[in-house]
Amino acid sequence: MAMANASIIKDVARFSRRPNLVDYHAVCAAFDWRKARALLDGLPGGRGLNIAHEAVDRHAQGRLAGRVALRWIGKAGERREFSYRDLAAETSRFANALTGLGVGPGDRIFTLLGRVPELYIAVLGTLKTKAVAAPLFSAFGPEPVATRMQLGEARVLVTTEALYRRKVAALRDRLPTLRHVILIDGGEKLPGTVRWHELMDAAGADFTIPATAPEDMALLHITSGTTGRPKGAIHVHEAVVTHHVTGLYALDLHDDDIFWCTADPGWVTGTSYGIIAPLTHGISNLVVEAEFDAQTWYSILAAERVSVWYTAPTAIRMMMKLGADAVRGYELGALRFMASVGEPLNPEGVLWGIEAFGRPFHDNWWQTETGGIMIANYAALPVKPGSMGLPLPGIEAAIVQRRPDGSVAVVEEPMVEGELALKAGWPSMMRGYLHEEERYRKCFVGPWYLTGDLAKRDAEGYFWFVGRADDVIKSSGHLIGPFEVESALMEHPAVAEAGVIGKPDPMAGEIVKAFVALKPGYTASEPLRKELLGHARKRLGAAVAPKEIDFRANLPKTRSGKIMRRLLKARELGLPEGDLSSLESDEK
Ligand code: AMP
Repeated sequence: MAMANASIIKDVARFSRRPNLVDYHAVCAAFDWRKARALLDGLPGGRGLNIAHEAVDRHAQGRLAGRVALRWIGKAGERREFSYRDLAAETSRFANALTGLGVGPGDRIFTLLGRVPELYIAVLGTLKTKAVAAPLFSAFGPEPVATRMQLGEARVLVTTEALYRRKVAALRDRLPTLRHVILIDGGEKLPGTVRWHELMDAAGADFTIPATAPEDMALLHITSGTTGRPKGAIHVHEAVVTHHVTGLYALDLHDDDIFWCTADPGWVTGTSYGIIAPLTHGISNLVVEAEFDAQTWYSILAAERVSVWYTAPTAIRMMMKLGADAVRGYELGALRFMASVGEPLNPEGVLWGIEAFGRPFHDNWWQTETGGIMIANYAALPVKPGSMGLPLPGIEAAIVQRRPDGSVAVVEEPMVEGELALKAGWPSMMRGYLHEEERYRKCFVGPWYLTGDLAKRDAEGYFWFVGRADDVIKSSGHLIGPFEVESALMEHPAVAEAGVIGKPDPMAGEIVKAFVALKPGYTASEPLRKELLGHARKRLGAAVAPKEIDFRANLPKTRSGKIMRRLLKARELGLPEGDLSSLESDEK
């Protein structure tokens, strides 16, 4: 990486808008989370802090009532707009509808929807009632959907008729806690479901948010681990303080911005920044239902006059493939700030931003557990292409190494690799993994939350991503647990063992690759490979299923019988095999 330490220096005097964060060190020194909290209103009458009040109701009651809160562009180009006043009314209707169903504080309301307005209304309406919103990615197959709803003890599911039929109906007996399925569309009434429109039509548009403690659970984001089931990261209403402050500093949101976060709310970015942060700033939030298509995206950026754009490396790489010339001809004068998250952004991607859009992509880093952006390249500060940037004001980040006694040592020396750690205590830090106290506790050593990412810090304090410390896979920005994929493969009668790795890919960052050993009586063949690919896709959905499957006679295992994914990966990539002392049986 030749340009690794070169910076893109900016001249703040020439900015069209003065960035919110100019003197980084002064703001960090003066920062205090209590003062940050004062940027929000709190519930009237000192009744606490509720995300939906900060995002919707407080604007609907003030000078921004008529401003566009959500501008939705459907797959066929159709549009719907909701002012803050409209959004307050719709979310109150949904809150009343839920209350009418007997649903209340702490109950988990899952959504399995594409990016349609009902998703946004359901999440915010849920938060009004103090129930817990858990958005699922609509491209998940039946297996991940059922596992996540079981884990989260789903009480209500909001979905479409087609998704319900394809992904939920057959597995409903695995979901004993699920009382209500609300279908936003559909023809004939399916047994065990209620209709969105009937509920909403019967519900009133006034709802008073009950007193909400900042520590009340608000969101459940289900994320993947290396072993076992996925994990349900618990977030509370106080997280909104981080959402708001990071919107201010990391995304440089200004009062009149038109903001577009391309992430799906089924992943944490699409909730924290696709719903909450922009609305807390009272700006117009663009929601685009269609999946990525470069030309469509450029026309949307131009036609909607998007000023702040938050996207991801896989999309940037796909745009790069088409070349900067494809951007010419679009009038993108409104575009002021571009950011990227979710996976490493190659230095070339940052620089391509300048070539194509006249400004760099600003990489930033965070994860489901942190609830909000923790490390970022800022509008006013030099950008170092390939670096994730500097910690947010209020966030202390360090590189640590584990000592044999279980404690950690903070690495002071620059550019030494270690695990990225954050000093616990910011408002959007997860408060636990649902029903998994031990798994949660293991994330902390002393004051440090250990992120599971390996990184380095340079002499100026910029962080550089190195890789994951565990086996989870990042494919097109989606975190995928190898265990979940292995389990789905093992359900096929031909499969004796499966080991799953992330294989580097120029577009997706990594793709899911599986190695499979067959049961006696089965022979490796092309038709069987296709059958297994199809089986996994049906169970898991396209975003999670393996793209490649190789057959092996045996898989390498440790003495305790665990498949050594690291070794499979090293062999696949022709890398050194490393320490093999725990290897018990091998593929050869
Ligand atoms: P998720 O919890 O699904 O948001 O995934 C979080 C993980 O994505 C992090 O722990 C990193 O491994 C990876 N990640 C997120 N942002 C970045 C980034 N800017 N650079 C490199 N990796 C990233």
